[in-house]
Amino acid sequence: MIAYMPTIYPDELVYSWFCRYYVHSGCFSHKMALQELYCKKSDYLSKEFIGNLNKEAMEQIDKIYSLDRLVLDHTMYPQYARFIPLTEKKEALYRLGRDSCDVHHLFPVLPRNDGERYLRFCPACVKEDRETYGEAYWHRKHQIRNMRICTKHKCRLMESNVPAKSAQGFTFCSAENYTHDREVVSENDASVIQYMEYLVSVFESMIDFDSDIPISSILYDGMSRTKYLKPSGRSRYTKMLAEDISGFYENMGVCNIVSVYQIQRILLGSLSEFSAICQIAFFLGMKPKELTASSLTAEKIKQERDSHYMRNTAPVDWEMLDQETAPVLEKFVRAVYDGTVNENGRPERVSEKLVYREMNLLGHQLENMPRCKDIMERYAESYPESWARKIIWAYQKLKENGEPFCWTDIRKISGVKKKHFQVVIPYLAEYADAGIVDQIMKLIYDNKEII
Ligand SMILES: [Zn+2]
Repeated sequence: MIAYMPTIYPDELVYSWFCRYYVHSGCFSHKMALQELYCKKSDYLSKEFIGNLNKEAMEQIDKIYSLDRLVLDHTMYPQYARFIPLTEKKEALYRLGRDSCDVHHLFPVLPRNDGERYLRFCPACVKEDRETYGEAYWHRKHQIRNMRICTKHKCRLMESNVPAKSAQGFTFCSAENYTHDREVVSENDASVIQYMEYLVSVFESMIDFDSDIPISSILYDGMSRTKYLKPSGRSRYTKMLAEDISGFYENMGVCNIVSVYQIQRILLGSLSEFSAICQIAFFLGMKPKELTASSLTAEKIKQERDSHYMRNTAPVDWEMLDQETAPVLEKFVRAVYDGTVNENGRPERVSEKLVYREMNLLGHQLENMPRCKDIMERYAESYPESWARKIIWAYQKLKENGEPFCWTDIRKISGVKKKHFQVVIPYLAEYADAGIVDQIMKLIYDNKEII
């Protein structure tokens, strides 16, 4: 039962709101507060979204703020779902408020780069918030991918030591306790400020739930005013566009620049990732409104569709595609393997099916790409091997948590079924030292609590 929910602040993350709830509610432990809000013991706090709320919490919260409004105004939904097709956008809005689904099934979520791994804050906003509200809070806008400045104060954002991923989130880290006084460093690069303001402007604009204009058509229209599209409209100069974009953002010091392969996928309508699309559109000189409230005619949309046919008939340059894809694939596959890409932080077995789906590859494409194939082979493992890694991961996580636990906790968090234990045992020693294996074996056979 939730005792009392504080008022949510403008642009505040739901996570931040829950952190303040924890601080003000007088809950004795993180675990207790977590249980009041969430369904299962294994649920974690979602930093960017709402998470798996239990029925009572959901009903109580829905009475104060509608779940749809919370998702729209207080989660990172306007970033991740901005450019996905309309039906998927509606489904994501519904499910983020009421479901415990894995967000990777709803929209593309790229692995995080340096500078994106921790929650960020603006020291000037912290000061202001303390004066206005009596406490600091986590702002959504500061967490947009690639965001480096506070557009309100034109100063650099600072990184906290609170991971932005939801993984290690058993603890409520309120901004008040995790943003320390820091010097305000102003940003003087006009082009950086302009680009960051562009991102915020796209992020903040209303989401169109009526029309369904593909982002590929919108960008095609933007390109038609540039040298990157032949006047006939049939050929895109994607490689030249990618090189020019790369130079442009390198000068600005932006990390994580969109690759030629990503540009190709976006222009063909198979990728709809926010920061990549914003990079292309800003570079092409398109106005935020063109992206968020497009008024393209049906004829223009058809024109773009028809141009795909022309493009698809061109032979694929496998060598280039392989070279472009390999580094992205490597990063993604590693993140699946060690769990950093997964919302709950759990290591997973790298399956071809998952890679094809998440990387938006076409059937059997990997077979023509030796570098990529090689990466897949390096990460290949049997099910028992992956179960062993999951069990060790769960053990270490519970150990870090510092509270007593038993075998059932490991089973729940690792997701490994009881009937598989026997086949897993020989593999444990491959991934952990003898001491840990010993402890895990004791748990399995004696079912004693570990403290
Ligand atoms: Zn600020």
